[in-house]
Amino acid sequence: MSMQVITPVPADSDFLQDESRWRYAVPQRIVFPSSEAELRQVLVQAQAEQLAVYVQGAKTGLTAGSIPSRADSILISFRDYPARVGAVRPLSTGWARIEASAAVTLRQLDEAAQSQGFIFPPNPTEMSAMVGGSLACNASGSRSFAFGPLRSWTQRLRVMLVNGETVWIKRGQDDGPVSHFEFISERGTTYCVPKLNYTMPRCKQAAGYYSGGDLIDLFVGSEGTLGIILEAEFELRPLPALRLPMIVFFNSEDAAHLFILEARQRCRDAADILKSVQIEFIGEAILKAFPRLAGMPDEACAAVMLEHWGDHSAGEEAVLLAWSELMLKHGAIADPSDPSFPQLLLATDSTRRKAFEAFRHHIPETMNRMVAESGFPKLATDCAVPDLMYGEVVDLYRRLLNPSGLTWFYFGHAGDNHFHVNILTHSQAEFDLAKQLYRQLCEAVIAMGGTVSAEHGIGKNKIPYFNLMYSDTVRQQMQAVKKAVDPSGRLNPGTLFAHA
Ligand SMILES: Cc1cc2nc3c(=O)[nH]c(=O)nc-3n(C[C@H](O)[C@H](O)[C@H](O)COP(=O)(O)OP(=O)(O)OC[C@H]3O[C@@H](n4cnc5c(N)ncnc54)[C@H](O)[C@@H]3O)c2cc1C
Repeated sequence: MSMQVITPVPADSDFLQDESRWRYAVPQRIVFPSSEAELRQVLVQAQAEQLAVYVQGAKTGLTAGSIPSRADSILISFRDYPARVGAVRPLSTGWARIEASAAVTLRQLDEAAQSQGFIFPPNPTEMSAMVGGSLACNASGSRSFAFGPLRSWTQRLRVMLVNGETVWIKRGQDDGPVSHFEFISERGTTYCVPKLNYTMPRCKQAAGYYSGGDLIDLFVGSEGTLGIILEAEFELRPLPALRLPMIVFFNSEDAAHLFILEARQRCRDAADILKSVQIEFIGEAILKAFPRLAGMPDEACAAVMLEHWGDHSAGEEAVLLAWSELMLKHGAIADPSDPSFPQLLLATDSTRRKAFEAFRHHIPETMNRMVAESGFPKLATDCAVPDLMYGEVVDLYRRLLNPSGLTWFYFGHAGDNHFHVNILTHSQAEFDLAKQLYRQLCEAVIAMGGTVSAEHGIGKNKIPYFNLMYSDTVRQQMQAVKKAVDPSGRLNPGTLFAHA
């Protein structure tokens, strides 16, 4: 079968918009390589024609990272690329490894791991995202509180550079000079990539290239600007013996926040029985306006989603009792039939666990649908702040957005001080006001030592805020990294850095 090519490209093509709903330029053609050889052929041709190339996975991105912003370009979609998942290889440590090609979806990866009693810990919410796109964004999810983003679980990457050369990059392979990473492509070319040493925010963070670490850490989270990811090897953990997803409800957001702060502290204490791998917050506006979860109390104004992981040594009852005590201490809504327990939703089997996951996934999905219906692009923050700023950042969102009269929602990864604030607009005036407020939020978050992107990346939409976050000097250092592997700046131009 020959490679599918779309040319000319219709201006309203679905491939020119990701989940952020922002559109930029119409490329010369869209291509769908179905092998490494075809992909290389596209890159060689692009080089001959001096065209830019954009790389697209499942286009679930929220920052238009995969959306062409130059007309003299080719958009490469991974839609037809082979989705190959290797066998789960158990290690003597009790953990395991798995290989997957870039077009494998996170759901396929997760299913392959779970079928062998293992789990891929990061758990980004959008399981239709591809491995390549998720690595490019260093995606993370509900369990990042305990396990961090994809980067921490990536052992090896196979990458194709913009000139078609390929290389395997392994964790821990760095034995080059202090100032540079050195690597040799399979064709024998040596590349020298400057090492970055700028200070990153002390919180969950996905804005710009990774400072410090290994060469592999630089490629993960580079948003398709350094190389095209073809394959990856990940580490897997064994499934825990005791796994208890729970949802608890509060009749005020403040009570939920106080509960979260104490729960977080206790989960981090190695000696404490409480061990949740996720601490997710859902605010009042969402609970009131979005489809209800069966069993949710009518008076609920905030919900916290937890997932206790442990062994059976302490006993399931003791674990539940300890959680219940902490929940009631912070005013969780009590069970009407037994006020000595909170009205807790528990997932004790996989059907119920899937229902919880669907409920959680439904929130950003519903938000995205509402945005699409509004006719205005998505304005959603992805900011995180250091631990000490938890209260400040929640106050900031309310102080700025409540008086604005705009419709806004917040939810997300409270354990990481990482809330997604979504502002819904219905007119140009509202959109302009929301953009102004968005900028003010970012400025305040940066002043708190935080980041303007904790998991979705910068893409194209967040460049103005990225530019507020890092000085010209730091961004020039990052651009020097890009120049080392993409001297003509043809790979994903306009992502991370505005066009030169
Ligand atoms: C409902 C919903 C929930 C979401 N929840 C989360 C969440 O919990 N956590 C999270 O982190 N994100 C989340 N996202 C955002 C999105 O799923 C992630 O950003 C994901 O990493 C994008 O993967 P993708 O395959 O769709 O990539 P795309 O959107 O196609 O591209 C994203 C970026 O990756 C680059 N890219 C794609 N493929 C490759 C490749 N093979 N090699 C190099 N670069 C490549 C693109 O150029 C672009 O810069 C959510 C999105 C939605 C719609």
